Amino acid sequence: MAHGQTLSPSFREECAVFGIWNHPEASRLTYLGLYALQHRGQEATGISSVYEDKHILHKDHGLVADVFTEEALDSLKGRAAIGHNRYSTTGANEKYNIQPLKARLYNGAVSLAHNGNIINSRALRLELQKSGSIFQGTNDTEIFLHLIARNKSDNILTCLREELPKLLGAYSMVMVTHDKLIAARDPMGFRPLVLGEILVKGGKAKVISSETCAFDLIGAKFIREIAPGEIYICDDSGEASYFMENIPTQKSQCVFEHVYFSRPDSIVFGNSVYETRKKLGARLAQEDEGLEADLVIPVPDSGVPAAIGYSQESGLPFELGIIRNHYVGRTFIEPKQSIRNFGVKVKLNPQEAILRNKKVIVVDDSLVRGTTSQKIINLVRNFGAKEVHMRIAAPPTTGPCYYGVDTPSRDQLIACHHSIDEIGKYIGADTLKYVSLDGLLKAVKDPEQKSYCTSCFTGNYPTAIPEDL
Ligand code: AMP
Repeated sequence: MAHGQTLSPSFREECAVFGIWNHPEASRLTYLGLYALQHRGQEATGISSVYEDKHILHKDHGLVADVFTEEALDSLKGRAAIGHNRYSTTGANEKYNIQPLKARLYNGAVSLAHNGNIINSRALRLELQKSGSIFQGTNDTEIFLHLIARNKSDNILTCLREELPKLLGAYSMVMVTHDKLIAARDPMGFRPLVLGEILVKGGKAKVISSETCAFDLIGAKFIREIAPGEIYICDDSGEASYFMENIPTQKSQCVFEHVYFSRPDSIVFGNSVYETRKKLGARLAQEDEGLEADLVIPVPDSGVPAAIGYSQESGLPFELGIIRNHYVGRTFIEPKQSIRNFGVKVKLNPQEAILRNKKVIVVDDSLVRGTTSQKIINLVRNFGAKEVHMRIAAPPTTGPCYYGVDTPSRDQLIACHHSIDEIGKYIGADTLKYVSLDGLLKAVKDPEQKSYCTSCFTGNYPTAIPEDL
């Protein structure tokens, strides 16, 4: 890097976005939408509402239910709003990085929220900085604000059509101006984005969300996905859908949304997440024919649907052999004179009455570094299990994600450097098996892999990856 240049750190974001147009309680429904999407990001949250020509923004670190008080929601006036939940993986937790971001452009204010990871963000930021842009934070979203601010067109659609193709990678975006709600999804469709509507007096409110589970909570009807490469615009005169130019025919929807990230009660990329996870569990059971075991237990909560699928396919009883404490936050204070390490036990407590002298099949959704499985197997054995057979409802994780999921670098991915047998020994399992890639693709109804990105399981990336990543 040449002297004097500063490259701000870029970071991966797992996030949720939500937007609503034409509802008298826009910010309260956004709050509820974000509440349903809390699993996609717990570090920070924000809502920007549009009232007359003003954008009112409230955002802070913390959970949705803590950040938005009654008073805050009262202040977020207007019939349109967008919101965001943020989970960032590096230290860039300044308040400015919390989304939505709002900016005053020459032709009015705009608020913007985004989920995904722009892989050419460093190069774009540097180019913008060199030509005079001043950045306040380190997030990808701010780059796009600068791009639209510099665009010369008065027409928002023209502006988006010119600027969006400059972004490479994953983005599912919501944006609001004084008279429009806009949603856009990258041409490969990495991250989910869906459209819904709610009947209101005299018409319909339009809603955009990362996942359909938010629609269920607010009583919105799921209409359809925002398509890869689509720019959806709605205003008081109606709605319209446009497409970016040169959209690749091969979609690259993130398969990990089905494995781990999305809520099981969502429909993602046209598939029920719950049904997909059950199918993955059933596949594991089919490949285990002949294995002698007494019961199937999930690692709660992520392994539950797959363990149900395993149990139904195999006929083995499903038991909650491990109980999860749902109130564990990020920090936990141990007694000063700690006589033992509390570790994973704070969150997960095995039930001896269920496990004692049993041959147990333990099902989890994925195995990344292997440390979680190791601790769980150790616990399950300490509580009396005679045999522990670990089953993972996904293939071995071998590729870091550059499109918005927090996976560690290759050196920390145990399957990059160890055989399945070695991993089994490391985690202390009697046996270890994964679902095959083929099995995963069948479960998401894409056997020939025409529409899913599987880079975290194959290391095959659907885009070029810039060297700085
Ligand atoms: P590990 O100890 O790294 O093998 O962790 C595996 C566990 O982390 C599994 O129980 C998964 O449910 C969970 N997991 C997998 N991917 C992620 C992710 N991107 N963010 C947070 N947790 C994850």
